[in-house]
Amino acid sequence: MSKIGFVGLGNMGGPMAANLAAAGHEVKVFDLVPELVNAVQGASGAASAAEAASGVDVFISMLPAGRHVQGLYLGEAGVAEHLAAGTLVIDCSTIDPATAQKVAAALAERGVDMLDAPVSGGTAGAQGGTLTFMVGGPQAALERGRALFEVMGAKIYHAGDSGAGQIAKVCNNMLLAICMAGTAEALALGVDNGLNPAVLSEIMQQSSGGNWCLNVYNPYPGVQEGVASSRGYQGGFLTDLMIKDLGLAMETALASGNMVPMGSTARSLFQAHGSANDAGKLDFSSIQRLYSREI
Ligand code: NAD
Repeated sequence: MSKIGFVGLGNMGGPMAANLAAAGHEVKVFDLVPELVNAVQGASGAASAAEAASGVDVFISMLPAGRHVQGLYLGEAGVAEHLAAGTLVIDCSTIDPATAQKVAAALAERGVDMLDAPVSGGTAGAQGGTLTFMVGGPQAALERGRALFEVMGAKIYHAGDSGAGQIAKVCNNMLLAICMAGTAEALALGVDNGLNPAVLSEIMQQSSGGNWCLNVYNPYPGVQEGVASSRGYQGGFLTDLMIKDLGLAMETALASGNMVPMGSTARSLFQAHGSANDAGKLDFSSIQRLYSREI
């Protein structure tokens, strides 16, 4: 069993830390919000991030964005100096690849291996321990952390060197945004021309337009049960988070000189939807409302 420090106990981090504690690991947790520290069952609360980082084998973070990760590790009261050489660091936040590489390089100088390990699977995956991890960093470090990844997730992929996990995540979510916007666009076109959305969905699912958004996460209300569109787009993966991830995709493309016209259009669409329809806190499949005024 490992001694684990865990910082960032929000929608994702809280249940991930609880799953590690439930699996028998000794988990010390910290968040800037004190109520969240006390809410993780089976874990002990730390008074600061530095305290959570002291005397542990593995240190895990799950924070909103790159600036938080850089601040946590390398900021004024950063935890880098509290991590003993040989500690394994796993950052599960979705952040820009450049910051992931910068923090990993700084920690490597102190004898600390860092993996960037963003996740897919949302809050349900965090609660159920069924997340998909996309891991960047040394293979040997991944093997050291594998037992913990297996508690928090169902699928673990080694994407490549430091930063590669973040790049994989950015590519996946850019494609997801493009597919969701395209699916909503096609459904609106059919419905506005007299088709039933369920009938049209079934036809396209069985034809060459079939895709994950259409088949298992249909954005049109009433077509599928148990998805966000059938509960007023509450819960799920927030539009605000998708806009954030599309921003990371644009930054990544600028840095590598790639053209991403589809991703760029998808970002504009989600941005317009977020502000025009006040949809930032709704599931991202609510982009259907940008096309379909009747729902
Ligand atoms: P969240 O806002 O619910 O949680 C983040 C937590 O970090 C907050 O509780 C905040 O207080 C804490 N925090 C921030 N800075 C801190 C610091 N310096 N020290 C201690 N605590 C600090 O966010 P979330 O939904 O849990 O998402 C976390 C990450 O996971 C994000 O990068 C997000 O993009 C990614 N992600 C989220 C989902 C999802 O469905 N929510 C899915 C996949 C990936």
